[in-house]
Amino acid sequence: MSLVEQLYKLQQVDSELQRKQQELNEIEDRLNDDKDLVAAESRLVSQKEQMEDARKKQKDSEWELEDLQEKVKQIEGKLYSGKTKDSKELVNLEKEVKSLKSQIRPKEDALLGLMSQVEEIEAKVKTTAEEIERLKREWEQRQETLRQRKSEIETVLTKLGGDRSGLEQQIDPEALNTYERLRLTRGQAVVKVERGKCQGCHITVPTSQWQKAKAGDLIQCTSCSKILYLE
Ligand SMILES: [Zn+2]
Repeated sequence: MSLVEQLYKLQQVDSELQRKQQELNEIEDRLNDDKDLVAAESRLVSQKEQMEDARKKQKDSEWELEDLQEKVKQIEGKLYSGKTKDSKELVNLEKEVKSLKSQIRPKEDALLGLMSQVEEIEAKVKTTAEEIERLKREWEQRQETLRQRKSEIETVLTKLGGDRSGLEQQIDPEALNTYERLRLTRGQAVVKVERGKCQGCHITVPTSQWQKAKAGDLIQCTSCSKILYLE
């Protein structure tokens, strides 16, 4: 293999290494990404608080209602026991019962409203809890696939790393330096010459230049400085 061929091959290995490394980074990002699950869990916490709050309001309302009903019962007991003879007192008791009874209906309506609020929020809690279960299952499945893919890529990366060291050892250190510098500053170090043109900058390469490059010498394009390669 000529020097330029070696450098071209090294560039292929480096590009593959870069692609695989990028793929690995993306997989690691996805392995750590549990945003949806975290969001659903925090939604569940706040819905449960709302549920507790609504249940408490319902209880309070039930007690108020029982209280009223109890009072009515007591006064009616007095009214119909026959023990109270005083007509004025009887009239007052009747008035009181009437007033208390008038409060019962609105309280009952309010209680019904609260009960349906509780049901509504309970349904929301149930839906969110189910969603969390589903997200957890999906997350676990995804983790498994991603971990498998990660390990495959790591194997490829190890192999490519070995290929690279092997090539590196065969290449003349000065040429390797030129290659590394170009890769760093230009992104790409070796370019093909096709139909007499440098594929890095598209200028026409002088015949004498590409002939040397074809012979395997390290020739850099006079325009873009990249190393010229002819198959
Ligand atoms: Zn060029």
